[in-house]
Amino acid sequence: MNAPDGTLHTDFLVLGSGIAGLRAALGLSRHGAVLVVTKDQPSESNTGYAQGGVAVAIGADDDTRLHLDDTVSAGAGIVSGAAARVLVEEGPERIRELASWGARFDREDGRYHFTREGAHSRNRVLHALGDATGWEMVRALLERAHRTEAIAVRSFACSTDLLVRDGIARGCRFLDEPGSETAVLARATLLATGGAGRVFAETTNPPVATGDGAAMAQRAGAALLDMEFVQFHPTALAVEGAPRFLISEAVRGEGAYLRNAAGERFTDELAARDRVARAIVRENREGRGPVSLDLRHLDAERVRTRFPRIAATCRRYGIDITRDPVPVTPAAHYVMGGVATDLHGRSTLRGLYAAGEAAGTGVHGANRLASNSLLEGLVFGARAAEGIADHAMGSIREELQRRCWQALGLERDGSSLASLERWLDERRQAAPTRPADRAAAEDRNLLDVASAMAASARFREESRGSHYRTDFPSPDERFHGHTLLEAGAPRLVDVETPVPEGARC
Ligand SMILES: Cc1cc2nc3c(=O)[nH]c(=O)nc-3n(C[C@H](O)[C@H](O)[C@H](O)COP(=O)(O)OP(=O)(O)OC[C@H]3O[C@@H](n4cnc5c(N)ncnc54)[C@H](O)[C@@H]3O)c2cc1C
Repeated sequence: MNAPDGTLHTDFLVLGSGIAGLRAALGLSRHGAVLVVTKDQPSESNTGYAQGGVAVAIGADDDTRLHLDDTVSAGAGIVSGAAARVLVEEGPERIRELASWGARFDREDGRYHFTREGAHSRNRVLHALGDATGWEMVRALLERAHRTEAIAVRSFACSTDLLVRDGIARGCRFLDEPGSETAVLARATLLATGGAGRVFAETTNPPVATGDGAAMAQRAGAALLDMEFVQFHPTALAVEGAPRFLISEAVRGEGAYLRNAAGERFTDELAARDRVARAIVRENREGRGPVSLDLRHLDAERVRTRFPRIAATCRRYGIDITRDPVPVTPAAHYVMGGVATDLHGRSTLRGLYAAGEAAGTGVHGANRLASNSLLEGLVFGARAAEGIADHAMGSIREELQRRCWQALGLERDGSSLASLERWLDERRQAAPTRPADRAAAEDRNLLDVASAMAASARFREESRGSHYRTDFPSPDERFHGHTLLEAGAPRLVDVETPVPEGARC
C-alpha cells in the first residue's frame, strides 16, 4: 500500500531474496501482505551460486543423530545444541516440502543421489542439476513466490537503514535509484540479507554479499553474535584476473586430490574446511605452491555430468578439468556470525528478525559443516515466519491496549489523542485486508474501534460524564449533543434524534 507521502505500508517486510528470505516470505504470505525488498535481480544471492548441495539426513543409511554429531563436532565446541537439533530434525520436512514445490534434486536409479563432503560421516549431500543446487532451490522458491498473490518483490532496491521508533523496528529505508529514497513501514522486519564475504580481498561471494543486515542491525541497536568466525573455503579458482569462482567441496567428495607444485598430496582432502585451507596456505608459504586440484584420475564423463557448471567456467579460463590441474586458493566463503537471534528468528530489537546467513543462532558454532547453510536458510526461514506470525500479531494487541490505556483512558487530552490516532492510522493501513485467523480478525477490529473512539474523543473538546479531557475540564454547551461518526469524520447531532431521518434505512 502507498501512502500519499510515498511511504509504503506492508504487514511484513523481508529484506533479501535468497533461500532464507523467500522461504520466510512464503510462510508469512499466509498471514498478510509481504514485501520482499532485494538489492539486485531476485536470483542474485549467495544461494544462487551454491553448488555442492544441501546436507539432509534422509538417506537409507543416515540418521538425524549422525548429522547432529557431525554438525556439533565441526563447530569446535560452541555449537548451540538446540539450534543444531532444530536444523537436522526439521531439515528433512523442509526438503520434502521444497521438492513438492518443484525443486528437482538429482536422482540415480530413481532414488535421490547423495554425495560426500568434508567432515560428514555419511553421504548426505543432496544436489540438483549436478552442481547448481542453490540455483535450482531458489528457482523453485521464486516461482512459487511469484505465483503467491500476497507477495510483492521490489528488485534493485537496496535497504540502507532500519526505521526504529520507541525501541521498535518498524521497517526500513531503501534506495531504488540514485538519490531516490523510499520508506517502508511494516509490523515486522526480517533481515535475510546473506553474508559478508566482500569484506575480504579473496572471496567466493557475489558482489551483493556486503554484510548489510548485520551492519543495519548494529546501527539500530541489535546485538550481533560470533562475528569473528568466518569460514574460508579451501578451493576457489586461482586464475589471475578471474573472480574467485568456487570449486565445490563435492569435487573432493567425488575423489579429487589436492597436490602441491611437486605433485604431492599434502592433506586429507575431506578434513574440515579450516584445516584444508590452512594446509594450502602452509604449502604456499613454505614455497611448495601453487596448489591445484587434480581430477584427472576420475572418470571424465562422470566429472562432466556431475560438475557441468564448474567444467564450463574453468573452460572459459582455458582449463579442461578432466585433463588439467585446476589452480586453487582459499577464499572467504561464509560468516558463521550474524544478527543474534533465538530459534524463531527474534533479534534483541523488538520488531526485528533475522534468518539465514545474516543471522547468528549459534547453529554452526565456530565452523560450519559443509552444505549446512542451504538447509539453515530453509529451516530458519520457515521458523522466522512462524515466529513473526505469532509474535508480531500478538504484540500489536498488547501495544494497542497499552497506548489506548494511556491516551484514551480515564484522562484524555488533545495532543495524546492526536498521536494515538496517527499510530492507529499507520497500523490500520498495514492491517491485512483478509485476516487469516480469528486473532488477526480481532486485531483489525480493535484497531478500527479504537480509532473511532480516539477520533470522537478528540472531537469532543469538553468533559462530560465518562469523557474527561484535562485540556477541557468542564462541560461546554457547544457539545450538548451526540457525536455521530461517519466515514471517519465526527460531527455533533441532536440529543433526541441522533440518527437523522434521512440516514435511516
Ligand atoms: C559460491 C558459493 C557456493 C556455496 N555452496 C554451498 C553449498 O553447496 N551448500 C550450502 O549449504 N551452502 C553453500 N554456500 C553458502 C550458501 O549459499 C549461503 O550461506 C546461503 O545460500 C545464504 O542464504 P541467505 O538466504 O541467507 O542469503 P543469500 O542467498 O546471500 O541472499 C541474500 C539476499 O539479500 C539481498 N540483499 C543483501 N543486502 C541487501 C540490502 N541492503 N537490501 C536489499 N537486499 C539485500 C541479496 O541481494 C540477496 O538477494 C555457498 C556460497 C557461495 C558463495
